[in-house]
Amino acid sequence: MISRREWLYGAGALAGAARLSGASETSDHGTHSEPRKASGKPAPLPLAEYEPKSMLQVKETHIERAQFPAIDIHTHISFSKKAQNGVQLSAEREYLGTPEELLEVMDRKNLRAMVNLTGGYDEGLKDAVTKYDKAHPGRFFTFTEPCYERFEQPNYPQLQADAIERAHRNGARGLKILKTLGLYLRENITSGPLVKIDDKRFDPMWDACGRLNIPVAIHVSDPVAFFLPTDRFNERFEELNNHPDWSFYDHDFPSNAELLERRNRVFARHPQTQFIVLHVGNFAENLENVSENLDHFPNMTVDIAARIGELGRQPRTARKFFEKYQDRILFGTDATPHGDEFPQQVFNDKLYEI
Ligand SMILES: [Zn+2]
Repeated sequence: MISRREWLYGAGALAGAARLSGASETSDHGTHSEPRKASGKPAPLPLAEYEPKSMLQVKETHIERAQFPAIDIHTHISFSKKAQNGVQLSAEREYLGTPEELLEVMDRKNLRAMVNLTGGYDEGLKDAVTKYDKAHPGRFFTFTEPCYERFEQPNYPQLQADAIERAHRNGARGLKILKTLGLYLRENITSGPLVKIDDKRFDPMWDACGRLNIPVAIHVSDPVAFFLPTDRFNERFEELNNHPDWSFYDHDFPSNAELLERRNRVFARHPQTQFIVLHVGNFAENLENVSENLDHFPNMTVDIAARIGELGRQPRTARKFFEKYQDRILFGTDATPHGDEFPQQVFNDKLYEI
């Protein structure tokens, strides 16, 4: 059984926890290895050291393999070799796992196919399609991404629409939008004012996807807690405390509500384009809001990637949501081979068993 701490963190953060415990040994409060005495004051316990063991004695059903073959719509097998201030700037790909090692897990779990969303563009995309999709037909599908390197060129809107056509010819099965759009891409690419999600310069790109009948997998915003102060009331305190750069609180970042509103304008303006709104419509904390949007936008579907924590804490509401929208919810995990920095999404057997 995976412990809460392994689940939340992974190796990097555990090293941080060890440092913390080292510091507490010199304090006069005692350490985690010293249980609290029956009398006296309660001993402070650093949050990073808290690893409660469940006392529940209840039957568990361990599912090792999907009953029916599944497609994971949301994985990251490759990444851009170069990025600056959150903007990926290179077509060239870095690969996180070989097809052979991925196929072993896929076959064990009855995973028919993995969709690699971050396939890049130009030569990088061609390379990824050759190494995965063409080498193992039906097991891997690759999506393209916008080329933000060219964003400052005056004819960017048309260039980007043409790039989608070219990517499609080269084997891309959809377009992926990272949260770069709305939170990182700026007028001078890595500096200047933030570019808005509904910026008209992207209209030809959305339309090209509609025309070619390829879906847009879009990640907008992030968990709501990332937009709030990293304090003792924040439900993702440990994560944000370990990765301060994940916080969008303050600075010049728009609010979560503004990001979603601008995203919705894109859906309304491009009814012929299909949008897969990742991470439970980017608002797993509020399934009522996601339901309203699904009712309002017939060109919208969602996936469930990396939001098991949100869905699991509202089991009855989540169940109703799944039953009502069962043909518009895609299976996705955000699986990242060797992605130890993102403990919720490390590609392995356990990820799929959960
Ligand atoms: Zn992802």
